[in-house]
This record gives sequence, structure tokens and C-alpha cells, in this order.
Amino acid sequence: MILEQLYEKAVSLVPLSVSEGVALYTKAPVEELMFIANELRQIHNPGKTVGWMIDRNVNITNVCFSQCTFCNFCRKKASDDAYVTSIPEYISKIDEMISLDGDQLLLQGGMNPDLGLEFYTDLFRNLKKLYPTLKLHALGPPEIVHLARKEHASFSEVLRILVEAGLDSLPGAGAEILSDRVRRIVSPAKASTEEWLGVMKEAHKLNLPTSATMMFGHVETIEERIEHLVRLRDLQSVKPEGHFGFITFIPWAFQDEGTVLLNKRGTRSSYNAPDYIRMIAISRIILNNIKNIQASILTVGKDIGMLSLHAGANDLGSIMIEENVVSVAGSHNRFNASEMQAIIKEAGFVPGRRNQKYELI
Ligand code: SF4
Repeated sequence: MILEQLYEKAVSLVPLSVSEGVALYTKAPVEELMFIANELRQIHNPGKTVGWMIDRNVNITNVCFSQCTFCNFCRKKASDDAYVTSIPEYISKIDEMISLDGDQLLLQGGMNPDLGLEFYTDLFRNLKKLYPTLKLHALGPPEIVHLARKEHASFSEVLRILVEAGLDSLPGAGAEILSDRVRRIVSPAKASTEEWLGVMKEAHKLNLPTSATMMFGHVETIEERIEHLVRLRDLQSVKPEGHFGFITFIPWAFQDEGTVLLNKRGTRSSYNAPDYIRMIAISRIILNNIKNIQASILTVGKDIGMLSLHAGANDLGSIMIEENVVSVAGSHNRFNASEMQAIIKEAGFVPGRRNQKYELI
């Protein structure tokens, strides 16, 4: 099929197949992909507003049995620097976030075999009791799979119990590439493709707001990247009418510094700016039913972040007061609230501060 026909299908919001997506990814000039992605951005989010937010990442624990080969953050239980964050530590971090006008914690961390469902429900309840307006964007499908196994419960039961305890939204963490071939190499002990999608399906039924992610630029093929996008789109297409489903999609590039993937397998990050821009544009084109595409300015930096806004992205994410997982693998970009807004303006857009549900505030 010639490229013009694929462009026409894309701007008519006709779902593209994997082979059509691969054809666009590999054959279309990047400026044409950017043009089509921009048209689609205007269909989904008319105007010039670019979203950003203030939140804070706090890691619940760095103990994790998963030992993903791209992760420098996790520790074994017996490590000298293993930790579980204490309530006084949460309090000081939340107070600091509130002083910077933030109201959401992104709670992530390792899958610590000692921590069960009760630990998380106690934690969420305690934090909500101390800070009733605090929003908790916490855990992710791999943790839900782990807790469901540990508690002999279904994904739905675990999610329902966590929501009752205070979970406000579920990050799309741990998606990496939704291909079991890739997952066997990068995250063999973590949720399978089917499990990751299964948790999200249940979250969508419960109308829990969710996000979707992709970590690319390691051992995956272009076809596997496109399959990942098609799997997300297919799941989004069966979410109950009127439910949140995937509010946003955030692709981010593998950071290789000090990782097992680099040191033991010799896999360097294939990240480069043209490929990232192509990835943002193709995400907008394939994901015809996900409204928001976020460029991960934390991992790609200011210049590529700005260019992404001309390639289909309509959001630059959070200023992220604290972040440890990508920063220990080589990403050192940091922006404060004024810098974030200045970057959006410099790119020719209007900053719109938002909450986790992508509502402007
Ligand atoms: S990426 Fe997450 S699940 Fe994987 S080893 Fe690191 S902390 Fe554990």
C-alpha cells in the first residue's frame, strides 16, 4: 500500500494493522509522520495547550525479586542499602511536595516479597488519613499480579481492595515491550504480556484511571514496538463506554548506564533523537483511541521534548520532584515548574497545568 493511502486511513482514525504500522515506521519520511501526527493531535486535542503537572515520586521499597536486566534501582533483601520507606519519611517528602504546590504521589518501587496486600492498604489508608486531599498514583500491573499470586486473589479483587484503601489511579508501569520474547530477556520474573493486559482490563472495568507506557530501544524489533501499540489500542477499544481506560500513553527510551543488559549482554540503548520523534509520531498514529500522548522530557531532555510537541505529543508530564529508577540508569534531566512552562512556550504552545486525569487545573 502506498504511503498516501496509509496517511489517509490514519487521519480518518481507521485502525492500522501491524504491517501497515511497520511500513509507516520504516518507510515514511519523519517530517511526513510528524505532519500526520500533528493533524491527529488536533483531532484529539484541538488548540495549543500542552499539559504538565507537579507530582512527586516516592519509592516504597528498593527490594525487588524481579531483578529486571534494565534496572539499577532494585536491591536484594540482604543488601546493606535495602530499604522500605517509613511513615516519617513519607511525611517529610509529602510536606516538601505540598510546599511546591503538588498534590499527587507517584508511588513505585520494587516487588518486595515481604510486603503483602495488607502492607499497601495500611500505607494508603495512613497517607490518606494524614493528607485527605492527597492523590495516590500507585503501583502498576506487575505489582497487582504479584499481590494477586501472594494473596490467592483475582486481579479484580486486589484492585478493588486497593481502591477502597485510597488508590486513585494505576500507572502503566512495567509494560516495557508487550512481547513475551522481549520480556524473557528484560524482565523474566515480571508479569507476562497477557497478565499486564489482564490487570489493565480489570482496572478499566472498575473505571480506575490508567496510563500506558513503553520502554523501547533495547532488544525489541520495530514489529514488536508496533505490536505493543496495537495491543494497547485493542484493549482500549473494549473498555466499558464512558470509563477512563488509558488516559495517556508515555513512550520512554531505555537508559543503559550500568545495567545488566549492557554489562552482561552488551545491549546498548539504541535511543537517538530522530527515532524518538518517529516513535512519538507513530504512537499518535496507531493509538487512534488514546487521547493523550506524553513525551518523557525527564528522559529525553528539553530539545527533544520540545520537538515531540510538533510530532503528536500534547503533554510533557511531570516536573517529578524525585525520581530514582531512570536517574540511576543515566537520565539526569530536571526541570522546575517555571522552566517547564518556559519550555512549552518556547516550543510555541500554551502551558496547561493538569491533574492525573488530564483535567486542567
Ligand atoms: S524495574 Fe521494577 S520490577 Fe524490575 S527490578 Fe526494577 S524495581 Fe523490580
